Amino acid sequence: MAGSLLSDAGQRLEQALKYTSISEDAVESLKFPQTSLTVSIPVRMDDGSLKVFQGYRVRYDDTRGPGKGGVRYHPSVTLDEVQSLAFWMTFKCAALSLPFGGAKGGITVNPKELSRMELERLSRGYIDAIADFIGPDVDILAPDVYTNAMIMGWMMDQYSIIKRQICPAVVTGKPITMGGSLGRETATAMGAFYVIQAMMPKFDQIPEVTTVAVQGFGNAGAILAELLFRAGYKVVAVSDSQGGIYSKHGLDIPNIRQFKDSSRRIQALYCDDTVCHTAAETVVSNEELLALDVDVLVPAALENQITEANAANVRAKMVFEVANGPITSAADKILDEKGIYVFPDILVNAGGVTVSYFEWVQNRSGLYWMLDEINQRLKFKMVEEAERIWAIARDLSIPMRTAAYVHALSRLGEAISAKGTRDYYLNSH
Ligand code: NAD
Repeated sequence: MAGSLLSDAGQRLEQALKYTSISEDAVESLKFPQTSLTVSIPVRMDDGSLKVFQGYRVRYDDTRGPGKGGVRYHPSVTLDEVQSLAFWMTFKCAALSLPFGGAKGGITVNPKELSRMELERLSRGYIDAIADFIGPDVDILAPDVYTNAMIMGWMMDQYSIIKRQICPAVVTGKPITMGGSLGRETATAMGAFYVIQAMMPKFDQIPEVTTVAVQGFGNAGAILAELLFRAGYKVVAVSDSQGGIYSKHGLDIPNIRQFKDSSRRIQALYCDDTVCHTAAETVVSNEELLALDVDVLVPAALENQITEANAANVRAKMVFEVANGPITSAADKILDEKGIYVFPDILVNAGGVTVSYFEWVQNRSGLYWMLDEINQRLKFKMVEEAERIWAIARDLSIPMRTAAYVHALSRLGEAISAKGTRDYYLNSH
């Protein structure tokens, strides 16, 4: 495994391997991404000039089903990052027993600098470039950081134009009117909320006396903060890319969300303002937020937020990873030594891909479900798999992250072996 992020992700695999008995073939094939595509996307800018953007789509493994994974628009997107995210998707889909492999995509761009028309041309150009590499039975896209339902709608439309037929199941997280599922916007936060609710009694924690800090006030973080607030948790700190706010009495999350929502640009896509402008509350930096003395810390922004450099400062009792890869493997060790319980991304934020799966099923069957049914199915899946992973962690006395990888690995190993293993071929002579 080359590359820092991907090799860091690979260390999780190594740790989990000690506790599983999957075949050598399976281990070998999971060490590398199956296919990595890099594309150049020429975009005609509003001023008439041409700009070329770099885009990526990686299919890590599709043994358990078509690739599934979001598309990220961010200036720091690299192939290494996309490969690591595709790796995580592979394990997430297996951990949740969804019939998908893992994939991911991204474009190196600061979308806040583009007009809406430029953003649309870029999104359609990306689909033109990767169309032969994706499909409802091959690799299915979804939103990720700085992409949303509107962008997914453009992508689905562009793919349908290329294929000359309506193909809703190639993209999930679409607008409802284009075949999107009810509950998709809130799914990641809802899924994380169900896991938190299921785990709290194991620590004798009740919402009313549980303090929470949330890093990242976007789709996942802000909705989760509000769900927790409404369930009675004391959300004492939230932050976004420009900083954070803290109040030991708890913040009024619905008010803060309303403020952020009222000050957006580019068709309600990117927020211009920051949570820091909301209040008389104490302003804290993101570093300070991560070090707050709270019961629950929720990193819901980007990867690599808790590293070897700052892990020793973390004082939370539990960390629920809503972002993908917010804790490095070196930081994991430090948190573990400090007795901080980490609930891993591949479980906690799997609500998004789970409802994406429901959307894909609805698109293919043509029958659309009610919101209650979706949330009920989501809750069942999240709680069921969280309890299974909890049981593995308890039985083997290992951290929840390792347990989640053990759980996913056994499903992946079984699927890879079902295709034929070394023993099978050796014995056939
Ligand atoms: P988003 O773009 O809606 O929000 C990201 C938020 O993080 C924004 O508030 C932004 O200001 C903030 N942020 C950026 N850099 C920051 C920093 N250095 N410190 C603090 N805050 C910072 O994205 P999202 O969809 O909420 O995704 C957030 C994380 O959750 C990502 O890691 C993503 O991969 C993961 N995730 C999201 C989904 C989903 O369905 N939205 C599903 C699974 C995982």
